[in-house]
Amino acid sequence: MLITENVPLAPLTTLKVGGPARYFIEAQTIAEVSQAVEFSRSRSLPLFVLGGGSNLLISDQGWPGLVLKIGITGINHRHGHEEVVFEAGAGEDWDKFVGLAVAHSCAGIECLSGIPGSCGGSPVQNIGAYGQEVATSIESVLALDLKDGRVHELCNQACGFSYRTSIFNSSERGRYIILQVDYALKHGGEAYIAYADLKKYFAGWSEKPTLAGTRDAVRKIRAGKGMLITAGDDDCRSAGSFFKNPILSAAQYERLMARAAAKNLKIPSYPALDAQRKVSAAWLVEHSGFSRGYGNGPVGISRKHALAIVNRGNATAADVLALKETIQQRVEEIWGIVLEPEPVFVGF
Ligand SMILES: Cc1cc2nc3c(=O)[nH]c(=O)nc-3n(C[C@H](O)[C@H](O)[C@H](O)COP(=O)(O)OP(=O)(O)OC[C@H]3O[C@@H](n4cnc5c(N)ncnc54)[C@H](O)[C@@H]3O)c2cc1C
Repeated sequence: MLITENVPLAPLTTLKVGGPARYFIEAQTIAEVSQAVEFSRSRSLPLFVLGGGSNLLISDQGWPGLVLKIGITGINHRHGHEEVVFEAGAGEDWDKFVGLAVAHSCAGIECLSGIPGSCGGSPVQNIGAYGQEVATSIESVLALDLKDGRVHELCNQACGFSYRTSIFNSSERGRYIILQVDYALKHGGEAYIAYADLKKYFAGWSEKPTLAGTRDAVRKIRAGKGMLITAGDDDCRSAGSFFKNPILSAAQYERLMARAAAKNLKIPSYPALDAQRKVSAAWLVEHSGFSRGYGNGPVGISRKHALAIVNRGNATAADVLALKETIQQRVEEIWGIVLEPEPVFVGF
């Protein structure tokens, strides 16, 4: 197991900002993960677990302790009655796995095509897109519990999934290192076409969209929004959506509607969002003076997506933080809503 020092972290993230890791290890096996944990404990180093680096803002100072990148690979599958269970190493690339599942005619995650990151990262914020969430396909998560030093299998319920949340990024944050994720997918299942963008894409098609066709459509739609990592596209040098869609109480929702009505504006209504009284963070940002393409400096808003803060080349974490705060302040002043960031802030 190679231990390196002062390793730049920016290249290991999609936003490409931030300082170095004091120590860095990439663990390929469960045994190496345990050894790395032991190394950090023996030197009292703070530990940060890195997946694909696609949901992170790393501070300009970097990380003072050990960054442990999970590089456990390998995907096996076993057939159940109507489903196929895939056991994916936490270091496997998420989108590669979706491609494999679709090639095996397995439904359940096709709408999550094109999301960057690792399989191990997928349960952390319960990734979701186009009406699907990974939580509905996760059977169990194998994780090293830093409390007792043992490997545990957590069933779906134990992971406490909800919108962009699990125990891994809330109540038990920092406690588990995810080693493997088991996904139960429906063999021969139909593609899930629920969101407007996908319905529009397939409008007029005489045949039902296949899983492969849906994966292709999702990747194309995402590319058009700068939400697919594409070489040469500056608009995808981001951490994806920087803010979550706020979930409002009935009273907050009423107040927001009233503020919109006073401005002769109507908050757009999407059945999938309305059901949970969620409002579009993108709409709030755009109606607070931050249009797509905003900003001339090193940091700005994607030309393709109002929710993506992008690094235009030489941005620092401080630049990203300043824009994030400006947006939050304006949205709160105008709409009375505090936007919550989606990425994980590391080393601040
Ligand atoms: C262009 C773009 C588009 C995106 N689109 C979407 C989208 O549509 N929907 C969506 O939900 N997200 C989206 N994201 C966010 C991101 O891709 C996901 O959150 C992804 O699952 C993060 O996984 P990762 O492996 O990159 O994790 P990282 O960014 O490396 O880490 C994120 C968090 O997970 C923890 N973590 C990672 N791996 C492990 C592990 N093995 N064990 C324990 N903790 C771990 C880290 O410690 C950190 O706290 C997008 C990001 C980008 C850049």
